[in-house]
Amino acid sequence: MSGDWGIRCEGLGRRFGAAEALRRVDLGVRRGSLVALVGSNGAGKTTLMKILATLLLPSEGRAEILGLDVASASMACRRAIGYAPAEERSFHGRLTVAQNLAFFADLRGVDPAVQRRRAPALLEAMGLDPAGRARFSDLSSGMKQSLSLVRALLHEPPVLLLDEPTRSLSPDLARRVGDLLRHEARSRGRTILLATHNLGEADAVADEVAVLHRGVLRVQGEPRALCAELGLPGASGAEA
Ligand code: ATP
Repeated sequence: MSGDWGIRCEGLGRRFGAAEALRRVDLGVRRGSLVALVGSNGAGKTTLMKILATLLLPSEGRAEILGLDVASASMACRRAIGYAPAEERSFHGRLTVAQNLAFFADLRGVDPAVQRRRAPALLEAMGLDPAGRARFSDLSSGMKQSLSLVRALLHEPPVLLLDEPTRSLSPDLARRVGDLLRHEARSRGRTILLATHNLGEADAVADEVAVLHRGVLRVQGEPRALCAELGLPGASGAEA
């Protein structure tokens, strides 16, 4: 099932009691490409992201990251992933931005010297103080979201799983983040799955769009072709 795929799901299902959050999802993201996972509230985006991030087991089917079964949650698999969750709860409120990043870099086995070199540039690219002096608890929700992206990128993972990464950002910063992610995919070969409510954002940044509706992957394809197939006038600015 691996081959060219950075991310691959086959027949993936997840139940919570009687509720089926995902049903027989087949999804593929080629290495070095960016796929936007579009769906409205409750479509199953976060459930799919958590399974891929090794935080939740599927009820059925299989998912792979670079050919590694995510259900094994092996170190190689976890190291390959940079995950920015929709709701960030894992930073420490009383530590500074720089201290939080140093903590996570250490967990991921990033050399401290590399971390000190890489973190300021990433912080600046995300519109944050490159020195990371602010306490986490003093950051706005947009800044916290930006920091989550910095953390996801810090260990230079080949695969990024980003759950609504621009939801709390200003339109200008959201565009810059979109540009950065396109660069990370096209020039640096990262495989990116980005969940969003916003079809306009998906159209602007993604090579392909995958539409999830009530746990079912309805369609996956190039944004313009999808609009034509769905009978939409054009994706830009539209909400999913
Ligand atoms: P949103 O954009 O609102 O976050 P989503 O597309 O990410 O939505 P999920 O959060 O994956 O959707 O939820 C999919 C379905 O699974 C929803 O019906 C949700 O209520 C249900 N669900 C998710 N997690 C749980 C859980 N831990 N226990 C019970 N039901 C859950």
